[in-house]
Amino acid sequence: MSEGTLLQRFLERAQRHPGREAFRSAFPTPDIATPWSWQRWCDDALAFAETLIAIDVAAGERIAILAGNHPVWPIADVGALLAGTVTVGVYPTSAPPQVAALLADCGARLAVTDTLAQARRIASVRHSLPRLVQILCWEGADLEHDIVGWHEVVHRRSEAEAERCARTTAVTPETLAMLIYTSGSTGEPKGAEITHRYLTASTASIAAVLAWNEEDVTLSFLPFNHAAERITGLWSRVHSGLATVLVADHGRIWEAARAARPTVFGGLPRFYEKLHETMLREQRPAAEVIATQLGGRVRLATSGGAALPREAATALAEGGLAVLGAYGMTEHLCIAFNRPGQPRFDVVGPAMPGTELRIAEDGEVQIRRSDLTFRGYFRRPDATREAFTADGAWLRTGDLGEIDEAGALRIIGRTKEILALSTGKKVAPGPIEARLTEDPFISQAMLVGEGEKYIAALLFVPSATTSSEPGALRARLAGVVDRVNRDLSSSEQVKRFAVIPDELTILAGELTPTLKLRRDAVAARYRGAIEECYS
Ligand code: AMP
Repeated sequence: MSEGTLLQRFLERAQRHPGREAFRSAFPTPDIATPWSWQRWCDDALAFAETLIAIDVAAGERIAILAGNHPVWPIADVGALLAGTVTVGVYPTSAPPQVAALLADCGARLAVTDTLAQARRIASVRHSLPRLVQILCWEGADLEHDIVGWHEVVHRRSEAEAERCARTTAVTPETLAMLIYTSGSTGEPKGAEITHRYLTASTASIAAVLAWNEEDVTLSFLPFNHAAERITGLWSRVHSGLATVLVADHGRIWEAARAARPTVFGGLPRFYEKLHETMLREQRPAAEVIATQLGGRVRLATSGGAALPREAATALAEGGLAVLGAYGMTEHLCIAFNRPGQPRFDVVGPAMPGTELRIAEDGEVQIRRSDLTFRGYFRRPDATREAFTADGAWLRTGDLGEIDEAGALRIIGRTKEILALSTGKKVAPGPIEARLTEDPFISQAMLVGEGEKYIAALLFVPSATTSSEPGALRARLAGVVDRVNRDLSSSEQVKRFAVIPDELTILAGELTPTLKLRRDAVAARYRGAIEECYS
């Protein structure tokens, strides 16, 4: 059945270890108080799969999931795949227009949420989504907004069982499993097609590097819609049998870690920076702070999504926590990983098992297309073609790198227009800058934030406008920024801005002949203003 896929592995695991704990919530409300065993996860996933069949969702149709790190995520993700449908995760912090755009792009038939607040956000844009037949909410129904309660409709259905079995059996490694939306370099979200083969090959590659197993306990707090928590997280747990504690409240990650005492901690640079900040603030030995904050059992810590700051990593290593930095992208997650026992903070590590990489003539990191590579962008043949070299054999990363004598990859820059925040969030600056410059008072705008916690903007205003009273000008610009922020997710929002009474020119080398920003040149010239945005 579904030979060679993680679904097969999931069903076998539930059969082999029915009573073993699979996941629980760190801070449960009464309805999610009991931990989920593999058997219970399997039963709930099957109930969801049979319900999809009962409400006539065909194989291959898209199921959107808009939820935090809540049990509904693993249940719906596995359940939808068992029914041969395709899951699509939405950033829990997306603004309603972004939710609408994503659900329209993938043509979602059904949307699943954890809370009523999230369900109502979808309801508010439902008029623009004719294909959406139902909004299903774990927390309950809201008839006024046409929201259906999960527990009222999702249950085992004997009349759908045969069809469900047939659909699960029909899933092959080539079957599309999910679309993972990534903003790419243009900011226009594109759905990367992830097949079952990608899932199997990637989780096997990760397991080979990290050698984790059924005795390990992990925390889950990064958003599930992103490739890191979905594949290195959820589906790797299916592959390797790790137990998980779901942390829905990001303000309480350390509290959850102290209680759950994970053996594996998969984080982003920002979390290790915070750990380092705590160390400096409390002036206690590193080892003590690490043990207190993480529960004292972590044997494996990883970081990806953006560069791991060397200072924090070095300080943590001195305290006994050697964070393994990794580098990957949605289109091919398993690119490079530092190996356990050999951590280095100047590189992202050697290529992962199954991955071959090369540096192109212009310095771009390229990955040989393999089982670990995405299939293409959903309904975007042009973008798919551009993602690969002309012969179609190598994936272009848009990152610049070099490979050292030891075979380890170092990332040294980027050709694509994207800002990687230390929170791992990627922001495409172009479209936001275009919105800002719609205002006549702003002639040019440049977003910054690479390696920082949040986005800031340099706003260039023509000299004619600077003659107005400075307080009034700033207030007006703040209004513009607020308006633009309204349509953005919280991580994309411009949190601080500097007003610069000047204009960028081609002559000064700040613009290309086609009037594109030369970001490095502008950043160098206005370094002081940028530093102030982060002071
Ligand atoms: P995403 O598809 O959203 O995961 O973004 C992938 C991009 O994140 C890569 O192409 C890199 O630009 C960036 N990235 C991921 N990991 C690292 C890392 N360890 N160091 C620097 N950049 C990274």
